Amino acid sequence: MRVEQGVPLSRFTTLGTGGPARAFAKPESEAEIEELLLWAASRDLPVAVVGLGSNLLVADEGVEALVLRLAGALAAVEVDGETLRVGGGAANAVCLHRARAAGLGGFEFACAIPGTIGGGIWMNAGAYGGDFSLVLGRALVATVDGSGWLTPADLGLAYRHSELRHGQVVLGAELRLRPRPSDEIRAQVRELNAQRKAAQPTNRRTFGSVFKNPEHELSAGRMLESCGLKGHRIGGAQISPKHANFIENADGARTADAIALMTEARRRAYEQYGVELRHEVEFLGPLELPPLASTRRQR
Ligand SMILES: Cc1cc2nc3c(=O)[nH]c(=O)nc-3n(C[C@H](O)[C@H](O)[C@H](O)COP(=O)(O)OP(=O)(O)OC[C@H]3O[C@@H](n4cnc5c(N)ncnc54)[C@H](O)[C@@H]3O)c2cc1C
Repeated sequence: MRVEQGVPLSRFTTLGTGGPARAFAKPESEAEIEELLLWAASRDLPVAVVGLGSNLLVADEGVEALVLRLAGALAAVEVDGETLRVGGGAANAVCLHRARAAGLGGFEFACAIPGTIGGGIWMNAGAYGGDFSLVLGRALVATVDGSGWLTPADLGLAYRHSELRHGQVVLGAELRLRPRPSDEIRAQVRELNAQRKAAQPTNRRTFGSVFKNPEHELSAGRMLESCGLKGHRIGGAQISPKHANFIENADGARTADAIALMTEARRRAYEQYGVELRHEVEFLGPLELPPLASTRRQR
């Protein structure tokens, strides 16, 4: 199994930022994953997976880890009755296409989520009232100690959350769907995509929602908008003028620019609403947001 050094992860993130991986490989089978997990363990190197990088901020200085991108059989999709058997690296769009062709509904919520099955399970991705916990039968998860099937309860799926940790690799999953006419699925997907296009910057480089919605009458987006942050720019990154819970790569952004914007957004939401926003985007590499107390403006 070929392991490459210094592959720039900016190629694999939708924001287009991020430094190199210490080691990088594209396994195509469970056997190759086993080999790679042992290879990393023997070097004390952590392991992380990138899907479509659509919910990922990677440190500019790179990542001291073996980074995997699942391919081949690990990204395949098969229909078996009302079950969709999918690889952890299968793109949601491909899964939805196959489900529609087979007249199986239930995965329509994922039409505008540009990720893979592994990334979707990792954070229980969802939209329009649906999420992975509602369709996932079970997931096959590998670690250096072996692999096993886990249910949504085992995975601790909750709002944009699972208990998965780096070192665990979602090899595949079974999605339990239900018969639905293809035309109905197509019509619903068209409608959801139109809603999405009207509200969000779908034609820009972003990583989806920056912050989880807080327990507050305002969503994270509305809260940041009312803090006057739409269009706010630091370096090459800007808060989307269309939706304040998105950060766009406006021109040559670095991850540090996005982190600086997130720091400023959290500070303002805290000062104006007393709300501590929690980030939805996942961090890879040495990245963190400063504690809120240290970001308060000196008065
Ligand atoms: C325009 C846009 C719109 C979006 N809209 C939504 C939305 O409506 N709802 C929503 O929930 N999200 C949304 N997102 C965010 C993102 O698409 C989802 O979170 C998606 O599920 C991430 O999948 P991914 O494959 O890109 O994961 P990545 O971003 O590559 O990775 C995310 C996390 O999952 C882990 N991971 C990925 N694959 C595996 C695997 N096989 N095994 C173990 N760990 C793995 C990674 O290590 C990382 O920690 C949006 C993003 C964009 C750019």
